Amino acid sequence: MSREVVLVTGGAGFIGSHLCLRLFDDGYHVLCLDNFFTGRPENFGERYRELMSSGRFEFIRHDVIEPITLEVNRIFHLACPASPVHYQQNPVKTIKTNVIGTWRMLGVAKRTRARILLASTSEVYGDPEVHPQPEDYWGHVNPIGIRSCYDEGKRVAETLAVDYHRQDKVDIRIARIFNTYGPNMSVDDGRVMSNFICQALRNEPLTVYGNGGQTRSFCYVSDLVDGLFKLMDGQHPGPINLGNDKEISMLDLVMCIEKILGRPLKMENKPLPQDDPVRRRPDLTKARQLLNYEPQVSLDDGLRNTIAYFMKELGINAETTG
Ligand code: NAD
Ligand code: UDP
Repeated sequence: MSREVVLVTGGAGFIGSHLCLRLFDDGYHVLCLDNFFTGRPENFGERYRELMSSGRFEFIRHDVIEPITLEVNRIFHLACPASPVHYQQNPVKTIKTNVIGTWRMLGVAKRTRARILLASTSEVYGDPEVHPQPEDYWGHVNPIGIRSCYDEGKRVAETLAVDYHRQDKVDIRIARIFNTYGPNMSVDDGRVMSNFICQALRNEPLTVYGNGGQTRSFCYVSDLVDGLFKLMDGQHPGPINLGNDKEISMLDLVMCIEKILGRPLKMENKPLPQDDPVRRRPDLTKARQLLNYEPQVSLDDGLRNTIAYFMKELGINAETTG
């Protein structure tokens, strides 16, 4: 069993919590660093006590913008709010988190010679003019829009990572993560999955932005975590797209949720937010060829698990939803 120390920044968040648990289960000593802006220890659920009594899981309440000295073997750098509602709440903080926070973590990686994986995003492609999006597409990003603190922040984070690699031989991995969903998303994070499912469960109309024809490609969180492991363990620095390449429109998503809940759902149209990408689907050629990555979980199965999670979060039992 390995006793490598792995730092996960943003470890108490949605993706981070799944990643920390998988690392823990694989025998690593896990440092879960988080400022608890959108993450929470409750994301570890019934495993919390086991983690805390194990002697190889530690919470570090810390903001990645501030300096820190840690001895680690590997770093998964995820700290950054991911939902538009959260990252637009304090855009200056978001860009600082992406730029200063990533610079700090690259500094830790340089000093300790730890391999570092940066959680970048499909948002670096902006509102893409190339479809599906391959890694060599440079993107179509508005530098001064309401999404820029996140998109441009992640683009600078990638630049920093690559420059630390070129200049200081830091061992980097860059994952471009596409829309991911699953248990541990927060109820109020404003993303389409959490909004639609919670609205449906509360018998509220589903808020469809624009005409609902815009598309996304949704990846279940266990597939994403699998991809992150493969990228970290592999030899390719990236960037590599990770996600699921089954593309659907928001109206299709409504129909999928209707099918699972077995009842029609009301919809309410809302204006399309500024710079909302029209289409998004990862080109997964590199991930398949270089990492042997293949998403396994169908949208139907993933949605069922996610609906079950939100039912628990909202205190709703099966009989009252139908
Ligand atoms: P999340 O908001 O659930 O998790 C982010 C975590 O980072 C939270 O626990 C939050 O408290 C923490 N955090 C935020 N700012 C911090 C700071 N300054 N210092 C320390 N901790 C801080 O989001 P998520 O969906 O789990 O996303 C995790 C990472 O994956 C993010 O970097 C995000 O950009 C990236 N990503 C996610 C998706 C997705 O669909 N979920 C898509 C693309 C990229
Ligand atoms: N969306 C929607 N209704 C909602 C929330 C989001 O129609 O209540 C749309 C949004 O306009 C976007 C898509 O769903 O086109 C995905 O939005 P999300 O915020 O989940 O992720 P992102 O835009 O970052 O891909």
